[in-house]
Amino acid sequence: MTRLSPNLLITGTPGTGKTALATLVSDRLKFNFLSVNDVAKHHQLYDGYDDKNDCHILDEDAIVDKLEDYMARGGQVVEYHSCDFFPERWFDAVFVLRTDNSILYPRLASRGYSSDKISDLIHCEIVQVILDEARESYAENIVYELQNNTWEDQEHNVARICEWVTEWCKTHVS
Ligand code: ADP
Ligand code: MN
Repeated sequence: MTRLSPNLLITGTPGTGKTALATLVSDRLKFNFLSVNDVAKHHQLYDGYDDKNDCHILDEDAIVDKLEDYMARGGQVVEYHSCDFFPERWFDAVFVLRTDNSILYPRLASRGYSSDKISDLIHCEIVQVILDEARESYAENIVYELQNNTWEDQEHNVARICEWVTEWCKTHVS
């Protein structure tokens, strides 16, 4: 598939800073910001409720159908806390955000999550569930792990992603 601009996926455990980073990156690049949670909520693309994790279950097929036209255009910054149900062909780069436990914990606690939910998410981050999922779902050379502990890290990550896009454009757009 040829696109004039690349599509980026920003993923990671909840609280690692996906929404904040994806917002900055899409502003800086003039790309379209796509929060999968927002799309699901706006169009009510749910398939039940997960009582254990206290969240909606996304209708993944409906999400993929809904996003297909956007992805065909290129220039999309998609953010979501999972990455294995999107078509592999959609993304030119996948950025997995990582945060140390001691920093992630207060971010999650301030959201008012239950202690069980926080423990599950911290565990998920320690055993790098999302990073493994990304490496299993996409070509290894398009998956980038980014530490996102501090605001300084965030600025560095924005710059790094923008540089990546510049390089992509040099080799893909004549
Ligand atoms: P996610 O979308 O991955 O759940 P958010 O972008 O909502 O995460 O960020 C979670 C919280 O952490 C927010 O309060 C946000 O302001 C803060 N945060 C995000 N990135 C950083 C960072 N690099 N340094 C410090 N705090 C951050
Ligand atoms: Mn978010």
